Amino acid sequence: VREAGGNKIVSLSTATHKALNRKALIEKRLLQALDQKNLKVFYQPQIDIVSGHIITVEALVRWEDEIIGVVSPDELIPIAEETGLINNIGSFMLEKACEQALTWKKAGYDFKVSINLSVREFRDKNMAKSILNTLAKTGCPASLLQIEITEKFALEAEAASSIIQQMRKLENEGITFVLDDFGTGYGSFKYMQILPIDTLKIDQTFTSSLLKSEKTQKLMHGMVQLGKSMGLKVVAEGVETAEQAKLLVTYGCDAMQGFYISKPVTPEEITTLLVQKQS
Ligand code: C2E
Ligand code: CA
Ligand code: CA
Ligand code: CA
Repeated sequence: VREAGGNKIVSLSTATHKALNRKALIEKRLLQALDQKNLKVFYQPQIDIVSGHIITVEALVRWEDEIIGVVSPDELIPIAEETGLINNIGSFMLEKACEQALTWKKAGYDFKVSINLSVREFRDKNMAKSILNTLAKTGCPASLLQIEITEKFALEAEAASSIIQQMRKLENEGITFVLDDFGTGYGSFKYMQILPIDTLKIDQTFTSSLLKSEKTQKLMHGMVQLGKSMGLKVVAEGVETAEQAKLLVTYGCDAMQGFYISKPVTPEEITTLLVQKQS
């Protein structure tokens, strides 16, 4: 195959071909990685903005394949959603998160573990049941589990009553839901009203432009107040600097997450952080 050449059509189709090959390879290797439980879970702490205590840790999938190397979640998740392997990633993450939450609880630390679930997983009418089964199997209390959903999820949930019913069922058991990437879509304000949401997580694009734009500051302040006035907890993500954190305190934000506190790390490193911060 000729890589460089004057012919645009040829190089475009080569690129497409490469992308398809990579996708097929990722799918094949992912299947094997899931089979051998070769995926890892990293955790990123979220701290109470006043006390500085870790109140939640977010579970984020990590995968380094022997052949492909590191595959970032931004590449992995869309392929997994397309191929249906997202269901396998979801059950892997859920089980790991529950086990880990229980380990921390037994060590005397009570905080939630938050997992990201995609709407495709909730198309399965038995999703709520299988989440509750995993809790029972691992012995993890429902109150330690949090589920982050995005607007894409919310959009589909609105149209499918079975998804909302499953969310309600889980909420009744004590699981909480977070509306992630809040403020980025068209329906944010609608979904915060119709879905059983406990927390708004304001998208990191707002945090990152906070110091550059007075308009963003007003918007952020407004979103925090709106969330609070509706009885929701409000979290800011992508906090990278002390200046950003300072502003968020003045807005009355409940919690924050981001590199300023810690990047996503191994469970062992979280335990070390806990010993430093929380004892
Ligand atoms: P997200 O749920 O919005 O997660 C936040 C992402 O921002 C994470 O990227 C995290 O590492 C990154 N991040 C955290 N703090 C900062 C910061 O201060 N600055 C910057 N620039 N970035 C920060 P990651 O781990 O690469 O995940 C990307 C996305 O992939 C996630 O976005 C989530 O939508 C998806 N994802 C990750 N793990 C899973 C999973 O297990 N299941 C599903 N369904 N989706 C997942
Ligand atoms: Ca998230
Ligand atoms: Ca997010
Ligand atoms: Ca995101």
